[in-house]
Amino acid sequence: MEYYELPVALFDLDGTLCDYDGAMADSLERLRSPNEPKFKPHTRDSEPSYIKERMDLITSSEDWWENLPRFKLGWDVLKVAKNLGFRIVILSQVPRKNPVPYSAKKKWIDKNMGQDTDIILTRDKSLVYGSVLVDDFPPYINAWLKHRPRGVVIMPANAGNEKYVHPQVIRYDGSNLAEVKAALKKVKITHYSKKPSF
Ligand SMILES: [Mg+2]
Repeated sequence: MEYYELPVALFDLDGTLCDYDGAMADSLERLRSPNEPKFKPHTRDSEPSYIKERMDLITSSEDWWENLPRFKLGWDVLKVAKNLGFRIVILSQVPRKNPVPYSAKKKWIDKNMGQDTDIILTRDKSLVYGSVLVDDFPPYINAWLKHRPRGVVIMPANAGNEKYVHPQVIRYDGSNLAEVKAALKKVKITHYSKKPSF
């Protein structure tokens, strides 16, 4: 079997394979003055401007990205996908202006997954082909599924995606790995049963 014949599983980084939210909360807490109220996580893009400015400072450090801890839910799914013989490809969003994550994400992947890992950094995940998408962020999931009526998504759980429901999406919260395994097995069987169209 050639590598390009394998079914492709696309893996997000922040909130999937690395714990961006946990690390960001820790970093913001360290920058809090004693008189400020204790930091509470905000839903994405709803932060007050002074918090947003601090987040921009935090994410301007390559070291910060490079040392993000692994996020267990994503790694559980990664293990299943690897064992089933999926081709693993990283699919991660990068900021419009800040070039730091382009370099830092590569370093994180080298360190945690090895230098041979395929990486796609983009502003639009919906452009990218795959049989499976593993991603925690509903707007990216919706965009990707729009062109993929048979695409399957595994969504690592967090507080922000608690209410999101879609028939092609399995929300994985650490307790339903058997469901994830069964869904990925089905994707694999469908992939290899496709007849050539010529
Ligand atoms: Mg994410």
